[in-house]
Amino acid sequence: MKIRIIGAGPAGLYFASLMKRQNPNHDIVIHERGPRGATWGFGVVFSDRALEFLRADDEEMYQYLAPHMETWPNLTIVYNDTTIPITGNGFAAIGRLHMLQLMYAYAEKLGVQVQFDSEILSLKDEKLAGADLVVGCNGAFSWVRAENEDKFGTIYDWRPNKFIWYGTTKAFDSLSLTFRETDKGVFCAHHYRFAPDMSTFLVEVEDVTWKNAGLDQMSPEDTIRYCEKVFAKDLDGHPIVSNNSYWRNFPAIWNQHWSFDNVVLMGDALRTAHFSIGSGTRLAMEDAVVLAKVFKDTGDVKAALSRYQELRQPPMKKIWDAANISLRWYEDMTDKMKRMSPVEFAYSYMTRTGRVDHAEMRRRDPNLAAAFEKLHPELAAK
Ligand SMILES: Cc1cc2nc3c(=O)[nH]c(=O)nc-3n(C[C@H](O)[C@H](O)[C@H](O)COP(=O)(O)OP(=O)(O)OC[C@H]3O[C@@H](n4cnc5c(N)ncnc54)[C@H](O)[C@@H]3O)c2cc1C
Repeated sequence: MKIRIIGAGPAGLYFASLMKRQNPNHDIVIHERGPRGATWGFGVVFSDRALEFLRADDEEMYQYLAPHMETWPNLTIVYNDTTIPITGNGFAAIGRLHMLQLMYAYAEKLGVQVQFDSEILSLKDEKLAGADLVVGCNGAFSWVRAENEDKFGTIYDWRPNKFIWYGTTKAFDSLSLTFRETDKGVFCAHHYRFAPDMSTFLVEVEDVTWKNAGLDQMSPEDTIRYCEKVFAKDLDGHPIVSNNSYWRNFPAIWNQHWSFDNVVLMGDALRTAHFSIGSGTRLAMEDAVVLAKVFKDTGDVKAALSRYQELRQPPMKKIWDAANISLRWYEDMTDKMKRMSPVEFAYSYMTRTGRVDHAEMRRRDPNLAAAFEKLHPELAAK
């Protein structure tokens, strides 16, 4: 097959590698608009028993990536000055650039051509001519999707909270969610170590807090200083580091149809999952697994693409739904902190998507479950 892929993110790189592994005769080129060493952001985190999803699908890739990951067994919630460690939640993290470099090397060794500085701006581009399959995996703001919304049946839901993706040189001990009340509203930091000397430090606020604090008018330098002050106790004198960091709103994106003709979507171009469930990269990689799998069974592109959606949509929708419930939890965090004690707040966080009930909470963290039962004795009898 002649396969042309737009975007060398985790989705495109992994799909290309899997297809080459299946059949080295496939002619596969990935067009990536950025240079080899460029990337935005800092680290990515994988939740849900760390990398077990990958291990189940692809032991080889698991063994290749896992040694490069930072892992830890617990999560920490910081409620102002109260720290609540929560057991039973494993995570793994890696620098995005590091992961991409590993995946470039893996794909290229298999014979995939990755062409950097190669931006594709139209499906009529001659670089795509004669392809049996064109894969649009050029990220959340994919033009492949945007220009064909009518065919894909795209749905956007722009969420009101503001977030900014920073890093810091402080290496945190576990994946942490720090909530600090200020006179302008609550500031939340999602932070985790992704290398021995670097952590992701993503700050999220409600829109009203953002405006109250004057962040809508502030320069990038003053914004960093402001956030450093809010999280001074957590940063221990370490600086916040920017990398093309700016305030954004999160778009929850969904498509009713995943392909037309020989064009298919994967990864963030297909759907976005809020960062609070640590599943964006995982979902992108799982899309790749299923898309490659359907081509194992048939070389008929139309049949394969329809099977891809049929197989992939149900499990993916479950995680996507959980992500959309999760993101809403942060949209009234100022009110939640006013109403809830640290234990109630942590419990509410852990059970926010409905995937963890009280029995599961007891199994994961008996101490937190017991502390919550003291406040809600009716649960102790269950
Ligand atoms: C703030 C933030 C935090 C996140 N945190 C996490 C996290 O903790 N854990 C997690 O798993 N995920 C996280 N994600 C999501 C994660 O980064 C994505 O889900 C994942 O990278 C999706 O992979 P992808 O291959 O679909 O797209 P991307 O990684 O976005 O890759 C798309 C590629 O396409 C290229 N491209 C774009 N347009 C063109 C074009 N016209 N021509 C050629 N190339 C093009 C881009 O340069 C890019 O390399 C986060 C995302 C954000 C925004």
